[in-house]
Amino acid sequence: MKIYDFFISLLYPRKCPFCGKIIDEAILYCSDCAKKLPYIPAEFQPRSFDFVDECHSIFYYRDMVQDSILRYKFHDCAGFCKIYGHFLRKYIDENRISCDIISWVPLSRKRYRKRGYDQARLLADECAVAYSTKSVSLLRKIRDTKAQSGISDASVRKENVKGAYAAQDCADICGKTVLLVDDVVTTGSTVSECSRILKNAGAARVVVLSVAAVVK
Ligand SMILES: [Zn+2]
Repeated sequence: MKIYDFFISLLYPRKCPFCGKIIDEAILYCSDCAKKLPYIPAEFQPRSFDFVDECHSIFYYRDMVQDSILRYKFHDCAGFCKIYGHFLRKYIDENRISCDIISWVPLSRKRYRKRGYDQARLLADECAVAYSTKSVSLLRKIRDTKAQSGISDASVRKENVKGAYAAQDCADICGKTVLLVDDVVTTGSTVSECSRILKNAGAARVVVLSVAAVVK
């Protein structure tokens, strides 16, 4: 370990992204959490939503995973993308998820400015490593919406995101399979709306991959 890294590790010891316990620099998360991570069983994969051909999500959005993702999004823990990236790439490899282009569900400019990073973009960048490529910005959020997490009714969530996204005209996606990455899929209304836009822009298939999901 370099001296600089040594002092950094003393000042900022690595913590388990799921429970917050201090862990060894050589590991990504603690052994207790490794035993308890709420993986969604293979029989519930993939799911589908309107305009979404396949939706894969690694964990149930609950307990330690929910706590971790909330910290990732709202408490400046952008570095957690590296740990989630490890799980996303493992899932991509094990399930042989194929695609032509990797993109993400974008934040609005307003929310991006407030947060300073786009959490789904960081995840898409992590996924892109598995394909030795770079993620591509295919969508932009053209209307600020109420946070989906604050709305429980599925039809209201659907209405909330309608017309909120537009396709970027920078990439030719005609006939291509897009891997659309997000942090959490809840009712599927956001990924469904984004997929509708991508298909209108010519995408042949949209495969969604998220770190977590609410599975009813
Ligand atoms: Zn832990």
